[in-house]
Amino acid sequence: MFDSGNRSRETGTNAFGIPQGKVHWNLPPDQLMKLALDQGQAKMTSSGAIAIDTGEFTGRSPKDKFTVKDDVTEKTVWWNNFNIPFDPNKFDQLYRKMLLYFEGKEFYGRDVYACADPRYRMSIRVINEYAWSNLFVHNMFLRPTEEELKNFTPEWLILNAPGFFANPAEDGTRQHNFSIIDFKRKIILIGGSGYTGEIKKGVFTVLNFTLPHQRNVLSMHCSANVGESGDTAIFFGLSGTGKTTLSADPGRKLIGDDEHGWTEDNTIFNFEGGCYAKTIDLSEEKEPDIFRAIKKGALLENIGFKSGSSEVNYADGSRTENTRVSYPIDFIRNIAQPSLGKNPKNIFFLTCDAYGVLPPISKLTPGQAAFHFISGYTAKVAGTEAGVTEPTMTFSACFGAPFMPLHPTKYAEMLSRKMKEAGVNVWLVNTGWSGGCYGVGKRMGLKHTRALITAALNGDLEKTTFEKHAVFGIMFPKTCSLVPAEILNPRNTWNDKEAYDQKANFLAEAFTKNFEKFASYANEEILAGAPRMKAHA
Ligand code: ATP
Ligand code: MN
Repeated sequence: MFDSGNRSRETGTNAFGIPQGKVHWNLPPDQLMKLALDQGQAKMTSSGAIAIDTGEFTGRSPKDKFTVKDDVTEKTVWWNNFNIPFDPNKFDQLYRKMLLYFEGKEFYGRDVYACADPRYRMSIRVINEYAWSNLFVHNMFLRPTEEELKNFTPEWLILNAPGFFANPAEDGTRQHNFSIIDFKRKIILIGGSGYTGEIKKGVFTVLNFTLPHQRNVLSMHCSANVGESGDTAIFFGLSGTGKTTLSADPGRKLIGDDEHGWTEDNTIFNFEGGCYAKTIDLSEEKEPDIFRAIKKGALLENIGFKSGSSEVNYADGSRTENTRVSYPIDFIRNIAQPSLGKNPKNIFFLTCDAYGVLPPISKLTPGQAAFHFISGYTAKVAGTEAGVTEPTMTFSACFGAPFMPLHPTKYAEMLSRKMKEAGVNVWLVNTGWSGGCYGVGKRMGLKHTRALITAALNGDLEKTTFEKHAVFGIMFPKTCSLVPAEILNPRNTWNDKEAYDQKANFLAEAFTKNFEKFASYANEEILAGAPRMKAHA
């Protein structure tokens, strides 16, 4: 058996056992691309990026994500549907089985960092069964220099084996695939799923525990960018609401598209070293920065091709609507280097409201901001299936419940305090429906959303007059340049005003019902931020 490539012999404080085999350490991207192509696991596309199929899973599997319950986590983790306890002995058993699975195989090791602020840097050693998964790790995390690789001491270990299946009866999993975090031993085990997002969101989950709990840093499911005057903006939102799309703004430097920390001294830092963009219906015209980042070195997932060619057909959602691409952050032209920002001035809560109730943009009071942050609302359309007309409502605390090990109030309190100290403006942006709900209206034009965000950022919006929403109590502008005034008040865009009022009440009721479980933690200011149903004649 042999090992090849540059790597340190440091095993870290936990003395991780690395399986013996033909291990390729820290290969450069072009070699990983070649291996994936030669092994028949990837296809070359005309963009220069390779395309792979993630297999059975084309998205994360939250029901199969577990946290080892021990003295570190027992009293600190908020055990719920997303933080599912796992037995330490079963974990140990599975860890050994996975080491044996790798034994003697050809596989791929990589040492990377998370957290662009060196004070919080986390060192991670990843072992991948597949070359393309290793390319994903290269693209998405911070890449050490050759010198740093020689002296690398891993703090965390990730074993990632899509081909390894658990035996639920023996191993304590729900089914054959699993993603399990052990905070004590600092190991993440991922098996039975090739979906690369499990790796990325596994690390994110770790940081959502360690940073707020141990380092007094607020971790956030948001994108971030910075303007020419050094003003940082952050964009919270659940999947599909526009974090990646809207943070790629040619007029501002990108800090990161998905995961950030906010330190005590008001530094905003990216956790990652790359972006993971959706590619469904991508076009150069609408999203030029992302489109141009898809080149040699980028990794496309589950896309289709134009027939008889190697040209990607971005309209093809036949494998999944969740087609993706990962690329190193420097594939975007205008970026902050390193991925840091100061002085957060504006916070956007992105929501894709498929009910068409919320205004395209509105300004929130601190109480409303806390209320909407804890609520974490979005409503998407289930898919593109014919006949599906009802949106699926989601309330996900802190706009990221599946990745938050602590109680939402921990994150919410930190955010509220920081927002007040930094004097930030908070905006609620509806990137979803206008002119009626899904099936009647249509999705907000990307151009309009971008123009509204630009106006909020450059202060133009503040100069206009605002109107209070009758049910949500939030203030929306009456005019904005480059945006038709009639779309700013959603009620105006509905032909049937009565239907609008009913839908607004319906949504307000859903917010109120969802908030019941948090009401006992909330003060009066936050409770006053809730919508009020309006009686109609
Ligand atoms: P994830 O957390 O899964 O990465 P995300 O918040 O980064 O999700 P995006 O990848 O930005 O979400 O996805 C938003 C999708 O919605 C894109 O495909 C984008 O083209 C589309 N879209 C359509 N209209 C709008 C709009 N008005 N604003 C933002 N995005 C829009
Ligand atoms: Mn994204």
